[in-house]
Amino acid sequence: MPNTQQAMRRRNLSLVLHAVAAHGPLSRASVAARVGLTRAAVSTLVDELIRDGLLVELGPSRPGTVGRPGSALQLNERGPAGIGAEIGVDHLAVCAVDLGGRVRARTEVASANRDRTVGPALARLAELVRQVAAEAVREGLRPAGLAVAVPGLVARDSSLVVRAPNLGWEGVDVGPALRAALPGLPLTVDNEANLGALAELWRGGHDPAPRDFVHVSAEIGIGAAVVLDGRLLRGTHGFAGELGHVPVRPEGPACACGGRGCLEQYAGEEAVLRASGLSPEQAAAQHPGPGGRIALLAERAADGDRRVRRALDGAGEALGIALAGAVNLLDPRTVVLGGALTPLAPWLLPALERELALRVADPARSGQGAVTVSRLGSDGPLLGAAHSVVQAVLDDPAGLREAAAVTGSGA
Ligand SMILES: [Zn+2]
Repeated sequence: MPNTQQAMRRRNLSLVLHAVAAHGPLSRASVAARVGLTRAAVSTLVDELIRDGLLVELGPSRPGTVGRPGSALQLNERGPAGIGAEIGVDHLAVCAVDLGGRVRARTEVASANRDRTVGPALARLAELVRQVAAEAVREGLRPAGLAVAVPGLVARDSSLVVRAPNLGWEGVDVGPALRAALPGLPLTVDNEANLGALAELWRGGHDPAPRDFVHVSAEIGIGAAVVLDGRLLRGTHGFAGELGHVPVRPEGPACACGGRGCLEQYAGEEAVLRASGLSPEQAAAQHPGPGGRIALLAERAADGDRRVRRALDGAGEALGIALAGAVNLLDPRTVVLGGALTPLAPWLLPALERELALRVADPARSGQGAVTVSRLGSDGPLLGAAHSVVQAVLDDPAGLREAAAVTGSGA
């Protein structure tokens, strides 16, 4: 087959699969109407997608009609699975999602990864990946790839963690250890804020989903990502979105990045704990487990603790100052507060929105409603990782068969 024809076939397979993913169950005729191809062409493509285990045909869509034309197509719940993993400062998590985006297996363990030798942390994560992949296989799914979320700078299109200050990792290639967990399958590594933003784009549950937004999340550092016209803005090196190191007060305290008065010094988890009169160790002891420190802050704020509320107000103000710059520069539809910041939203938002109202040029884009709180909570990056694998399958279903041919896993 000539190359252009083959490329067109690949694109059309993806068009059909995306149509069913977005609007299924659909009859072949409705798919044809949606993608603008003939019914005969769509039928050939559908047959191929069924053969590859990506689509399944349900019974007749209406009682009384028999045979293929009336039967409905939907994504195969026993098809490919995306495996997502997350390396947090104090936890490791892995999940598997099916083509329809449902989480079919998940595990999370507390793990003090900060300043820990990298080897054991990656070995533990690889073991969890193997466990979850095995569980997905027991569910009838076929793992199609692994994506890993890391709280640090990841070199574009590589598995090299250039710098993860809050893990104390520098120049760590996580590829070899993790590739061994799922041999032969594609591995991608990305910044957790990027994956959190992509999860919001693909699975945020907003109707219509915003296609231009700035997504801000946090663990210990502050991460942000920019989505413009439905695409993640990566930057030359893949480092775009380092909002945590945008100066809020140029004369402020020194930051690990070499600058002064960065947003992280005011709105990072440790800064907020300090301003609340709590030490991170104290907070972890009072509220052990992943997300414990944030949970403690949220609890205290809900109880009316004045010091905590003041600290969160200060963090909201700093976020607002930094975000106003981003909003003025990029003109997004909205700012999404995600990740570990979501439980704190009620106390961050008033000051954040106040600063946006003060500083954003367009009054329609500032003030109340300028900020959306993510519904995905702290799971955003993990889900984004798993969904990025599924998205790659939806974007190029033929690529899956090629990968299977290489690994000999069969489609
Ligand atoms: Zn900094």
